[in-house]
Order: sequence, then structure tokens, then C-alpha cells
Amino acid sequence: MSCENGNCRANKCIECEVTQCANHAKTENYCSLDRIKVGTHEANPTEVKCTDCESFKLD
Ligand code: SF4
Repeated sequence: MSCENGNCRANKCIECEVTQCANHAKTENYCSLDRIKVGTHEANPTEVKCTDCESFKLD
């Protein structure tokens, strides 16, 4: 489920503060997806900033 139909459901297993994402639950700081994919843009990730939510979609 996502927020695209205006029927957001906060997935309490996935905390997220990226309110610019179309999948953000908006009213609470959670993702609305059942699952997300986390990846990296680095060859050898060493810090939090090396990781990306690859399920991000601009609102
Ligand atoms: S898809 Fe990723 S960035 Fe978007 S709300 Fe969910 S966890 Fe946050």
C-alpha cells in the first residue's frame, strides 16, 4: 500500500523522516509501504550516508 490513493497507512516497522517522499505516511513519521529496499551508491559503504532508500519516490 502507498499514499498514492490518499489512503496512507503508517508501517510502524519502517520509521522515516523523509516527508518529501510519495510513500511517506505524512501524518506520522513512518513509511506507508509494506517493505522497502535499501541499497548503497558506494563501492565500500562505511557510514549511514552511504546508504539509500531505493524505494524513494518524489511526491
Ligand atoms: S520509500 Fe523510503 S524514503 Fe520513502 S517514505 Fe518509505 S522509507 Fe521513507
